[in-house]
Amino acid sequence: MTHKSGVMRQSSRLKTKKMKLFDVYPINNITITRARGSYLWDEAGQQYLDMYGGHAVISIGHTHPHFVSRITNQLRQVAFYSNSIHIPIQQELADKLGKVTGKEEFQLFLCNSGAEANENAMKLASFHTGRKKIVAFTKSFHGRTSLAVAVTDNPSIIAPVNETDNVVFLPFNDGDALNAYFNDHGHEVAAVIIEGIQGVGGINIADDLFLQKIRTLCTDYNSIFIADSVQCGYGRTGEFFSHDQAGVEADIYSMAKGMGNGFPVAGILIAPFLKPKYGMLGTTFGGNHLACAAALAVLEVIEEERLMENAKSTGNFLISRLKKIRGLNNVRGRGLMIGFDLGGDLKDLRKNLLFNQQVFTGESKPNTIRLLPSLALRKKEAEEFLESLEEEIQHMVSAHNMVKPA
Ligand code: PLP
Repeated sequence: MTHKSGVMRQSSRLKTKKMKLFDVYPINNITITRARGSYLWDEAGQQYLDMYGGHAVISIGHTHPHFVSRITNQLRQVAFYSNSIHIPIQQELADKLGKVTGKEEFQLFLCNSGAEANENAMKLASFHTGRKKIVAFTKSFHGRTSLAVAVTDNPSIIAPVNETDNVVFLPFNDGDALNAYFNDHGHEVAAVIIEGIQGVGGINIADDLFLQKIRTLCTDYNSIFIADSVQCGYGRTGEFFSHDQAGVEADIYSMAKGMGNGFPVAGILIAPFLKPKYGMLGTTFGGNHLACAAALAVLEVIEEERLMENAKSTGNFLISRLKKIRGLNNVRGRGLMIGFDLGGDLKDLRKNLLFNQQVFTGESKPNTIRLLPSLALRKKEAEEFLESLEEEIQHMVSAHNMVKPA
């Protein structure tokens, strides 16, 4: 067999054999080909209402014209060069973020994903304190890289190599347990990491008193308070960082998801007393020109269109209406981060909403529906969702009653 024919044989095989894709999630049989604002369209032209934002990622609405033009213009100029040169658009982003968050004194480290942001936050806390212990909470989710997954309360996704005695899980919102742990081990604690509202864990809100206690204990023991704002941050709750609602400030805020409206960009905001040195934090792609253009576009739209106010008012509207719907239990949330639990009769509601009503929503096991739409969701789109929800619940309840034995 000549080299030439070997190459030919291989290329014809490539034509016929498809490479298997790893399924990150169970796949719904839908192919989205177009998106705008709060709507998506599939290849047959069917329209869907997006009440999930693709896991809380779509913050300013799909394909927002300002977002598209800012990224397109940047792409025509320069898409990437390494962090070894001046990248003025990074400073522009930092300035804008300082203005929108009111945290001008903090410094910004840019990276690419939520897990990476948390990983760097915890690493920095350990460098700063010289300590190893991290306190995390039950039902937490902080990502899938080594330390981020180790502080995630889900043993099934922690590989043996990521198991560590450096992490302790305490009960969420239990101030006494936290006090007791700090009494015994406070001087070993590098950081406490907490979501302001747990997302994957099922939309569980951290109590103001609990966040205040974390602040006090971290200050007393020189530990670092890390506010994981990957899902609950970036304006989603009506506050830029949901933790700040408790009237306390964290030492590090991690950000991702809504930061780029779909463009992969993430970062941490670092309090001024923390002084990372060269080499402690690093990245190839983090802070690239295109990612900064995307992140700037998002902040500009959030400001210009007053999307945090919209998240608060549309969120309040949705929550108050959802509370009136029979069959939905424990409606909770803040702004456009909303959850409710389903009774047994409605266990297929999420699937039915998608395939019968063409509405995307999210879930948390075992029985919670999560709503994480774009912060630009309009009141009439919220009303449209409520109508679809009520209609579907009605169908499901009638169908259930019909098959119930007399
Ligand atoms: N932290 C929280 C609160 C999250 O919800 C997630 C993702 O769902 C992460 C971290 C990890 O983010 P990423 O998937 O971008 O690594």
